[in-house]
Amino acid sequence: MAKPGYRVFDTSVGAVRRLSPHFVRVTFRSDDLRELGWDGPDQRIKVILPLSGDDGDRFGHFPNGADWFGAWRALPDERRNPIRTYTIRDARPEQGELDVDFVAHGDSGPASRWIAQAELGERMLLIAPDATSDEPSGGWEWHPGDARTLLIAGDETAVPAVSAILEQLPDDAQGAVFLEVPDAADVLELRTPVGVTVQWFDRGGDALPAPGYGGCLVEAVRTWADAWAAEARRHDAAALAPVAATDADPDAELPTIADDEILWEVPEPARDGGFYAWLAGEATAITTLRRHLVKGLGVDRNRVAFMGYWKLGRAEG
Ligand SMILES: Cc1cc2nc3c(=O)[nH]c(=O)nc-3n(C[C@H](O)[C@H](O)[C@H](O)COP(=O)(O)OP(=O)(O)OC[C@H]3O[C@@H](n4cnc5c(N)ncnc54)[C@H](O)[C@@H]3O)c2cc1C
Repeated sequence: MAKPGYRVFDTSVGAVRRLSPHFVRVTFRSDDLRELGWDGPDQRIKVILPLSGDDGDRFGHFPNGADWFGAWRALPDERRNPIRTYTIRDARPEQGELDVDFVAHGDSGPASRWIAQAELGERMLLIAPDATSDEPSGGWEWHPGDARTLLIAGDETAVPAVSAILEQLPDDAQGAVFLEVPDAADVLELRTPVGVTVQWFDRGGDALPAPGYGGCLVEAVRTWADAWAAEARRHDAAALAPVAATDADPDAELPTIADDEILWEVPEPARDGGFYAWLAGEATAITTLRRHLVKGLGVDRNRVAFMGYWKLGRAEG
């Protein structure tokens, strides 16, 4: 049987650094991480959280084989470690190191609770791409191809992915980036090519303002997209045109998914020039944006990757 593209990595917490009121960078370390793969800038991984209230090994029941997922699901609730999805913010496999930027959003979820008390030297398990496997890891969605105009939008949970994407953009990239974070002090320094503008929006702290999660983001992106589409219709209709060499039906209905499901749709990696949008964050805001681009402005759905990274009021897993 082929070696899976992902596997469990046994690590420990090497460093914890508060970057801002809501961002905490954890560096995971281990010799095991020398075999870490990192295939795309928005590479997702799974963080296995310790079982609480267990004095013994808090990962003692976590299965470590090719079928870890099936075995994990079969465990009784009290022995099943919570699993949450994160992004590789940076990795130095040659040093056995991997950085994850966690959003600290209070004590409502196991990951956010853990980050508030993460300890140096603490054992942690990650599921991440295995560089020693010939299988593709998948798990990354940034596929702009030759797109001439990039639109990138996300909330704080997407800031790590967007930061890594920007670091890997060619110097001549063109586009606009919109990021919404909880607090003005959560604005981080980013490496940005000259032709890419970045606008940050903040919600003014923990108290939720009128537009709620994603409200500022949605408004700003819609304004930008309306102006861009009007201009494209006049001077660059090809930017909006159906993507060449895909057989997806551009008129197909958007997926209608029950309220309690996270929305996620990403186009095939092969792309032509034109426009490419990458949208990630709270599911309702991201879906609204995607609908505006595709239904409102007539952008081919194969030009839009949209990923509900989390959904307000719903725990992952
Ligand atoms: C591909 C992918 C990549 C991701 N990368 C990152 C990353 O690099 N950094 C990061 O911080 N997050 C990232 N996320 C989002 C992260 O997985 C979720 O925020 C996750 O729900 C956090 O788990 P939790 O245990 O803290 O909360 P959960 O137990 O999942 O949720 C508990 C409650 O908290 C709410 N909640 C969850 N996240 C937030 C939030 N950010 N702000 C306010 N309320 C929230 C939920 O709606 C729910 O009501 C990523 C998600 C995906 C799918």
